[in-house]
Amino acid sequence: MQYYENISYTLKKSRKRRKTISLQIGDKSELVVAAPHFTPISEINRFVQEKQNWISKAIQKHKERVIKNKAKEYITGEYFFYLGESYPLEVFFEPLENQGVVLWNNNFYLNAQEDKGLRKHYFVLWYKKKAHKYISERVDFYSRMLKLQPGNLRITSAEGRWGSCSEDNNLAFSFKLMMAKPEVIDYVVVHELMHIQEKNHSAGFWHLVESAMPQYKLQRRWLKDNNSKFTL
Ligand SMILES: [Zn+2]
Repeated sequence: MQYYENISYTLKKSRKRRKTISLQIGDKSELVVAAPHFTPISEINRFVQEKQNWISKAIQKHKERVIKNKAKEYITGEYFFYLGESYPLEVFFEPLENQGVVLWNNNFYLNAQEDKGLRKHYFVLWYKKKAHKYISERVDFYSRMLKLQPGNLRITSAEGRWGSCSEDNNLAFSFKLMMAKPEVIDYVVVHELMHIQEKNHSAGFWHLVESAMPQYKLQRRWLKDNNSKFTL
């Protein structure tokens, strides 16, 4: 750790062909400076000093993002995504009424006792139920339009992937997809349907996706950028 004025940073000296000094924000919202191996420390400090404004903004932004992405507590005031919008949660416990989640009037309501595992379980159930109905309708719509006949449709709890298409054309989609915008869900549906025709990610495959959905790159980008918000 190096210190200069009020700014502390971790210095990475590179032996590779790096020609310029660069700044990054690390996982713990700390500043990481990468510099060519023989850069004098005074030059690095001057660079850091000049970029002070950028640095404090970037660190602030990173901290906010960490707060947003932290694991859910399932408490009143937290926000949950559905179809690309986020809605605040209100939690209560009424043992004589139905337990579980409802979305009503732009609010999530959760009737459950104070048990994080159970509360999460109710949310998963809710998303899965929505996903079964919503995604099967979109699969029907696009399979008719594209004249592609899929096998079974499954909704999974997959964390790492949004959708998949098996050798025998069974489709699976993560319930988490219900947190994304409708256009984005459509993109994932079209993507998996096109795997009925092409079981790879060749240029030919992407041509097929593009022919059905000219804007698909925007949706793919959106998924990458927003992925980390969809925690449960
Ligand atoms: Zn694919």
